[in-house]
Amino acid sequence: MAKYKLVPTPGSKVSLKKYDPEFVGSYDKESARAEVDDLRGKLSELQERLYAEGKQSLLVVFQAMDTGGKDGAIEKVFGGINPAGVQVTSFKVPSALELAHDFLWRIHQHTPSKGYIGVFNRSHYEDVLVVRVNKLVPDSVWQKRYEHINHFEHLLADNGTRILKFYLHISKDEQKKRMLDRLRQPDKNWKFSKGDLPVRERWDDYMSAYEDAISNCNTSYAPWHIVPANNKWYRDLMVAKTIVKTLEDMNPTYPSPEEGLDEVVIPD
Ligand code: AMP
Ligand code: MG
Repeated sequence: MAKYKLVPTPGSKVSLKKYDPEFVGSYDKESARAEVDDLRGKLSELQERLYAEGKQSLLVVFQAMDTGGKDGAIEKVFGGINPAGVQVTSFKVPSALELAHDFLWRIHQHTPSKGYIGVFNRSHYEDVLVVRVNKLVPDSVWQKRYEHINHFEHLLADNGTRILKFYLHISKDEQKKRMLDRLRQPDKNWKFSKGDLPVRERWDDYMSAYEDAISNCNTSYAPWHIVPANNKWYRDLMVAKTIVKTLEDMNPTYPSPEEGLDEVVIPD
């Protein structure tokens, strides 16, 4: 069976052409879906422990081309867990106020508090992706951002936040199929934006920008995962597995109960 390395070696230069978006290992749809159901149960229990412990947090970052499956993965993986313990933030085109600050200002406000899981649908990486491809700032500005990002993520990690970054890797052909679905199915029309077409035209530029973002910011404290995402069920499985494994490794523990609970009598 062909091999697939989900996390590139830190410091290596990533070539996305070497990552097959169709890869599914030895899984089929049915077994993958069943395993995701199982993992959701585990995630739910781990999330409760994380919340009860209140000492660490988890930040999960999703990046992808349009139709790559950011919304779908978030829905499938986090769908069953207590919404009180998860904060999902979608980053859109920055406001005038946000643009009047450094690029991490708006991001920092949404990083998860202790005990919480934070999920980013797009992120500070947009500032080295769309911003670079569309030349929204001079080269000298975005080029410095990789280092700023690494320092920022290191700060979060030092403060008790585990960071997982997922690039949902689809092929250009798969994007076309998904865009056509959005056009043809009335209940999916709202997801189609004509503005996504010029982005598709710059596919190769985006791939280069992603390769640099992943290569320059793939650290031990905030690893990038290149998820084969042409098959939604395999994508969800890889994301769910990675999150559960990480939370198990964080091993949140329930705090010890108050003293003397065995003597407590609840008055009538
Ligand atoms: P969507 O995720 O489909 O709602 O689209 C959000 C849009 O906001 C995408 O076109 C992103 O490229 C854009 N966006 C997000 N962050 C930034 C940023 N920092 N600068 C410019 N555009 C951004
Ligand atoms: Mg969109």
